Amino acid sequence: MLLSLKDVNVFYGGIHALKGVNIDVQEGSFVTLIGANGAGKTTTLKAIMGLVDVRDGEIIFDGEDITALPTHERVKKGLVLVPEGRRVFANLTVEENLVMGGFFLDEGERRKRMERIYEIFPRLKERKWQEAGTLSGGEQQMLAIGRAMMASPRLLMLDEPSLGLAPKVVHDVFEIIKEIHRSGTTILLVEQNAHMALAYSDYAYVLDTGRIILEGPSKMLEKNEMVIEAYLGGV
Ligand code: ATP
Repeated sequence: MLLSLKDVNVFYGGIHALKGVNIDVQEGSFVTLIGANGAGKTTTLKAIMGLVDVRDGEIIFDGEDITALPTHERVKKGLVLVPEGRRVFANLTVEENLVMGGFFLDEGERRKRMERIYEIFPRLKERKWQEAGTLSGGEQQMLAIGRAMMASPRLLMLDEPSLGLAPKVVHDVFEIIKEIHRSGTTILLVEQNAHMALAYSDYAYVLDTGRIILEGPSKMLEKNEMVIEAYLGGV
């Protein structure tokens, strides 16, 4: 298993945000975590990155207990998060944003990775001199993912990449994620758009007020009545 959360508990003051969460992500898989607003999806990703305290439980990455490791050490091990809200550096160009994603690399390696990212995202290549703040929402999301890819993650985590994007653009973003997965990167995707998340992933977890209430192959969850009722709009 590449990543395992074992009985993870997180508190915000008196709020018990994660109540004994267990999640497994196999190397090479595409796993999604779906759930309503406030279910604890973002908190789960923050716990994995070390951005919130885990009071109880363990996070195991590649056989090693990383629960107490600082965030930058986790990044070094290949855990990378694309946070919600496509936080790009608005005043920097597309290319400068990508450089920031690989600032720790030597010039040659950085160039190589950037060329690879321009292959996956031809639109970023076309716009490499444009200031990131002037990109469309979809392009900014692509840039946020591209910047994360500069670190050559072993586990790429994405928090609500579809948020606020038009359906056609959401489709493009998911196709990109699929391509990144196909080329060998393990994916953990958090989404409120359960429809898209289940269509693209292999395996899914359903989080409800801090607890995993259901898990299984995505194709099966798509047919589950409770999932259809609660997360797929009853269609
Ligand atoms: P969303 O999709 O709306 O971001 P989510 O499933 O990602 O929802 P979280 O953001 O993980 O949910 O929040 C889980 C719970 O923890 C919510 O009840 C939220 O209000 C609470 N919470 C999150 N961050 C904090 C914080 N910094 N301080 C206090 N409570 C918080």
